[in-house]
Amino acid sequence: MTYTVGVTGGIGSGKSTVADLFAELGVVIVDADMIARDVVASGEPVLDAIGAYFGPEVIAADGSLNRALMRERIFENAAYRHWLEALLHPLIRERMLVECQNARSAYCLLVVPLLVENKLTDLCDRVLVVDASAEVQIARSVRRDSSNEAQIKAMMATQASREQRLAAADDIIDNNDCDLAQLRAAVLQLHEQYLALSGA
Ligand code: ATP
Repeated sequence: MTYTVGVTGGIGSGKSTVADLFAELGVVIVDADMIARDVVASGEPVLDAIGAYFGPEVIAADGSLNRALMRERIFENAAYRHWLEALLHPLIRERMLVECQNARSAYCLLVVPLLVENKLTDLCDRVLVVDASAEVQIARSVRRDSSNEAQIKAMMATQASREQRLAAADDIIDNNDCDLAQLRAAVLQLHEQYLALSGA
């Protein structure tokens, strides 16, 4: 099993930015969001069960899951959300595990926005939290997504608190008042540490 560093952080905290910097150093990145999309891509057998449960309209014309419609359905009804999560979470977990196992670098980075919320820390040898204050999260997300502050706050309310996340951290990148050069330096320092920990 490749030594696995789980990376998490709230919306707009800088996970992707940090992951890109590790990738520049040759570290394989396993992206939970991408895997979550792949498991419901066109042709995936699990779509039959989802179509049977929610109705054929949740399958888009190209055969993939209509994610926007599904989001609406599960927003209306918590039982729907639980059913879908019970179906998809084990599949997503298994694929994350396989991708980490197959990673061809000294260690790999498993980037999971909801690592703490979905209790996935057991997949990781170490947990790195990208930390930003609520104000910074909101400012960056509003700028990036052109969503409004209320939408970002609503999203943040569904995620773990900053304190809960930090409590799960082995390492923390403080991404509040730093520029890209400082972020890169922090990543390089952690990279050296992870190479040593992984026995490379
Ligand atoms: P999400 O979970 O919402 O996808 P994320 O945690 O992956 O977000 P990023 O997309 O990496 O966050 O960062 C959010 C925005 O903030 C991006 O536009 C990114 O370029 C910017 N950003 C990240 N870190 C910094 C920084 N240190 N200084 C300035 N801008 C930053």
